[in-house]
Amino acid sequence: MHRGAVAEIDRSALLHNLRTIQATSGHKPVIAVVKADAYGHGSVEVARTLVNQGADFLAVAFVEEAKQLRSAGIEAKVLILFDQTDISAFFDLDLIPVIHDKGAAVAFSNEARKRNRALPVHIKVDTGMGRMGLGEGSAVADAVEIAGLEGLVLEGLLSHFSEADLADRSFAVHQLTRFREIHAEIAKKTAGNLIRHMANSAAVFCLPDAMLDAVRPGIALYGYLSADNSFGLEPVMKIKTQVLAVRNLPTGAPVSYGRTFVTKRESRIAVVSLGYADGYNRLFSNNAEMLVGGYRVPVVGRICMDLTMLDVTDAGRVSAGDEVVILGTQNGQVITATELSRRSGTIPYEVLTSLGSRSRREYVS
Ligand SMILES: *Cc1c(COP(=O)(O)O)cnc(C)c1O
Repeated sequence: MHRGAVAEIDRSALLHNLRTIQATSGHKPVIAVVKADAYGHGSVEVARTLVNQGADFLAVAFVEEAKQLRSAGIEAKVLILFDQTDISAFFDLDLIPVIHDKGAAVAFSNEARKRNRALPVHIKVDTGMGRMGLGEGSAVADAVEIAGLEGLVLEGLLSHFSEADLADRSFAVHQLTRFREIHAEIAKKTAGNLIRHMANSAAVFCLPDAMLDAVRPGIALYGYLSADNSFGLEPVMKIKTQVLAVRNLPTGAPVSYGRTFVTKRESRIAVVSLGYADGYNRLFSNNAEMLVGGYRVPVVGRICMDLTMLDVTDAGRVSAGDEVVILGTQNGQVITATELSRRSGTIPYEVLTSLGSRSRREYVS
């Protein structure tokens, strides 16, 4: 028996978001980021939908994720953002590495020569994220050296913004300027026509100069931006479950572990099949709402491993089996990942990956 939580993934919202990104970027090629199982939405279905609808590349973090896509018959170009542990898999599965250091480049070159193959690669330069990429000081010299390695075809150059919401653009503008300068130097010294890409979702919507030759959005595909303005994007994920039982409690009755909630009146308490094991953060204890019968009702008491309690006293008739919406809409009411992320002190990315990856998925269009 499955646990009860269902993630309903709306393909038409996904498509709407892709079209919105394409229009906003001036129809630049889209490198669709589907890492972390497409931010909890299911990478195979999401990738298939996006590629069928005109996404130009896919990007994932690890080779294992690309294996899943290939096994499902997805033949699109796939960029591996971080992982270069299994060099031969790049050749076997036709994957494109993002190179962050010379050592890895040499290993790819050796393998390419051994196989008599030419491997397209993208090079990443660190312009202020401080995570991965060739260091700014030596990026030009290193990139030129890598471009000269036998068996490698330098196809793209990328960098990553350290701002995901761009409330303050000054550092992002600095990063973009550095990236352009580094690219110009590399372009002078190499033959190729490099695809430059840097724009994450925030930059697509807030930094028009960052579009360059392709854009690389993740979160916006799924309907969110960290900023308050969502630019007409539509949330793709709905999380729902059901009421397991409804109980009448007298005034003064404690609810759940630690008795952090005590009824102040005669109350009807619904027990819902969803808990922290389903990715519903324990920080939502006494600190979130769900939708039942079109009402917004408060979570009461601590979130349990498999269960959450709601005060449905004011929510009309609620009975076992009724639908409960944790994320998404019900009768015109809406709970967004942004709302949940504020309540738990995190970002929509974490809310989506936590809830989406642990629920049974259903795709609707
Ligand atoms: C995750 C990631 C993205 C997408 O970022 P969003 O903020 O979700 O748009 C783009 N590029 C790299 C290198 C990433 O790791």
